[in-house]
Amino acid sequence: MAPDPFTELRSPQGSLVSLYASRPSPGGFAALLSDLLRPIREQAATRDRTVEMSVRADVERIRDLAESFETGSAPAYAVFASDADGIFQVEALTHEVPDVALLGHRPYLRPLRTRPRDLRAGFLVADRLQARVFVVCGSVVTELGDPIEAEPVKRDYGGFEGNAEHTARQRADENAARLWKDAGQRLFEAHQERPLDFVAIGAPAELADGIARALHPYLAQLPRVDFPAVPGSVTETALRSEAASSADEVRRNRQAALAGRVCDTAWSGGMAVLGLSRCLAASNAQAIETLVIAGDLVRPGVLCGSCGFLARSGEECPVCGDGLIETEDVVADLIEAVVAAGGSVHQIEVASPLDNEGVGALTRFPVTV
Ligand SMILES: [Zn+2]
Repeated sequence: MAPDPFTELRSPQGSLVSLYASRPSPGGFAALLSDLLRPIREQAATRDRTVEMSVRADVERIRDLAESFETGSAPAYAVFASDADGIFQVEALTHEVPDVALLGHRPYLRPLRTRPRDLRAGFLVADRLQARVFVVCGSVVTELGDPIEAEPVKRDYGGFEGNAEHTARQRADENAARLWKDAGQRLFEAHQERPLDFVAIGAPAELADGIARALHPYLAQLPRVDFPAVPGSVTETALRSEAASSADEVRRNRQAALAGRVCDTAWSGGMAVLGLSRCLAASNAQAIETLVIAGDLVRPGVLCGSCGFLARSGEECPVCGDGLIETEDVVADLIEAVVAAGGSVHQIEVASPLDNEGVGALTRFPVTV
């Protein structure tokens, strides 16, 4: 889902409730919503009357959603509500998110921004006689074309038996190689149309390397996983679970490489910054190309409602002079600022040198902060 319809939501007095709830066990939505909303309501009670009344109305209205969430089929829902500002938006999400509710001036979009994207896997499942090609993305399995069959070998019994057998075996090898090449070509076309993130080869173990050698050099450069399978009996469920576990591994490797790149670049004096304060400053300068956050780091901070200036603390905006407003999760505001400036955001789950810094970024130009 594109979070963009929500980015512009604003509540000048800070009464915007952002709530995310993933499907609990059956019958659990009412309790989950109550638990998430209780602290919001308590927080609102300490604010001015407009905020308090607005939140009270929204809490009632959101609680009333429990029943429709129960009967719905989405794995998770997001709600953005501010009665005082005429905002009430409910969105069915396609993936689970951590349960959270926050009160603020702007929508809390971090759970949407930091969700890892589904990786696109190219599957080639083959033995010596048949090959099938699939693309798996998330839980969607698409078979590309019909199964391809190897050309049958006609035995020639005219000569000596030994020779005939040898020739037949050689033919069969050639035919299998051609079969794999044809299947590989189909996968290559899919990759050219839209890039694949990795390749999976499902085959009897002794054939996997031979099949891999038949791949186009572009595909051969991608991460590759092998798993035992035969084309005649491979199931969508098997492909889906193979894709999911391999995607996790590919993603972890990429995250580790990205975190390493940010740290190495910064340490060697290149175009990168480390640490939240420096990243906020670099973002204020519209310099961030790629933001990398170690885990679910959350830090309070301040933001300017007029010009978007971000900092760890302060009263007055040094850019435009407006009063700064407090924010519970300035990392989330940083994420929004980076996305708005055309940068990309990665929240990583693997342990890396970035853990000490919490957050780091590759910048578009050298930043002195
Ligand atoms: Zn400002």
